[in-house]
Amino acid sequence: MSRNVPEAEEQVLSTLNLDGSRRWIRPKLSKGRFYRRRLVVAWSLIVAFTTIPYLKVGGKPLMLLDVPRQQFILFGKTFLATDTMLLMLLLVGIFITIFLLTAIFGRVWCGWACPQTVYMEFIYRPIERLFEGSRARQLKMDREGASAGRILKYVAYLFVSIFVAHTFLAYFVGVDQLFYWIQQPPAEHPTAFAIMALVTLLMFADFAYFREQVCIVACPYGRLQSVLLDRNSLIVGYDARRGETRGRLGQRRKGPPAEGESWGDCVDCQACVVTCPTGIDIREGLQLECIGCTQCIDACDAVMEKLGKPRGLIRYSSRDALDGKKTSILRPRVVIYPLILVLVFGMLAISLARKQDTDVTILRGLGAPYTQLPNGQISNQVRIKLVNRSNETRLYAITLVEGEGVEMIAPENPVRVRAGKTETTAVFLNVSPGSFARGERSVRIRIHSGDSFEREFTYRLLGPEGGE
Ligand code: SF4
Ligand code: SF4
Repeated sequence: MSRNVPEAEEQVLSTLNLDGSRRWIRPKLSKGRFYRRRLVVAWSLIVAFTTIPYLKVGGKPLMLLDVPRQQFILFGKTFLATDTMLLMLLLVGIFITIFLLTAIFGRVWCGWACPQTVYMEFIYRPIERLFEGSRARQLKMDREGASAGRILKYVAYLFVSIFVAHTFLAYFVGVDQLFYWIQQPPAEHPTAFAIMALVTLLMFADFAYFREQVCIVACPYGRLQSVLLDRNSLIVGYDARRGETRGRLGQRRKGPPAEGESWGDCVDCQACVVTCPTGIDIREGLQLECIGCTQCIDACDAVMEKLGKPRGLIRYSSRDALDGKKTSILRPRVVIYPLILVLVFGMLAISLARKQDTDVTILRGLGAPYTQLPNGQISNQVRIKLVNRSNETRLYAITLVEGEGVEMIAPENPVRVRAGKTETTAVFLNVSPGSFARGERSVRIRIHSGDSFEREFTYRLLGPEGGE
């Protein structure tokens, strides 16, 4: 602690000392039943995160968030930035799912699946323990200064961060582009190299320095939990009715805590506190800093087992259940969120099922609805917008299939559209004025690209009233 700094009267944040300096959290690992389950989940997620960029569906990546080209590929389907409705439905669906999961299972995402927790607790923290040893040795290093072990840890962190940053970027540029860049000298692709270096640096800074601060200070989800959780949501909680009055074994030998009172099951051993990766004391109730990682459950269960008492003084429960009140699974939000989800994902599924890998929009030409040519014919300009969502360049042929006496002039036919791109072309449909009835007549336009795509459209030509 630094001197000459006025100290706060009480600790305001678990990661701050009273003088405002950083309080480094060095959690003690508690290897209980929940840790073992989280280990399986975490490594499944790490393997999934690492392999997804390599997986393909129908020749397209399973997932590619191609920001520079403004296209997103999910499960082999291409979404363009112009697919506002689909993207909006997808985002609304994701948010409502998070709301629903949080209402039922509390911060299960934070504790079990968030990349920040998964990578911190199951890759970076084990590396730290490997090079720096136990919590006691780590705290000694904090007091006495860095050691060779700590320097080696940072070197290992750097290599892991390089790997994680490359995997992360593969989601945005694809593995083929990534491997091409890796094989070229940085001078060949300075921007990509700079982005890679920056992401690596951010990863390193996150896991080496910011750590739990990301969850406590930066992540908006932690702050949202107070509105997403209710009194029946699943939380990691301390059973104060069973645990209080707390007291150490030594105190208990001297007699009851006060006249007419008896000791609870909490022996005030602090095992739940020293294992907490965000440095809080779960016995103070539900706190914003709690990421639901279950480490305190494992720590306390081990203590209870040693004392020959039932496990679960700290357990998954709800605030109402811990207060001894009646709990209810069915609450308004638990009913309303799934209904909205069925609606949103139903609309999304129907839109996706109907979506072909080419979008065609036929638009009327800009300016006057039609023009009269020097030879007396009426000319309608038609603009055809083509969106190619496939992963290959396509040639789209435009033909007139119904339109007796109509002449089609297409300066560009077939139209070449690269994969994931949009092109707009103009065609002119010329016809004699006498063929219009009440100022209009219909034609059918066919657009096709080999065996891959074919569609016909009815288009209304405009002309003079009475055909003159
Ligand atoms: S680990 Fe259990 S017994 Fe020990 S202080 Fe925490 S709640 Fe009390
Ligand atoms: S209080 Fe328990 S569940 Fe919450 S973050 Fe700390 S150890 Fe994890």
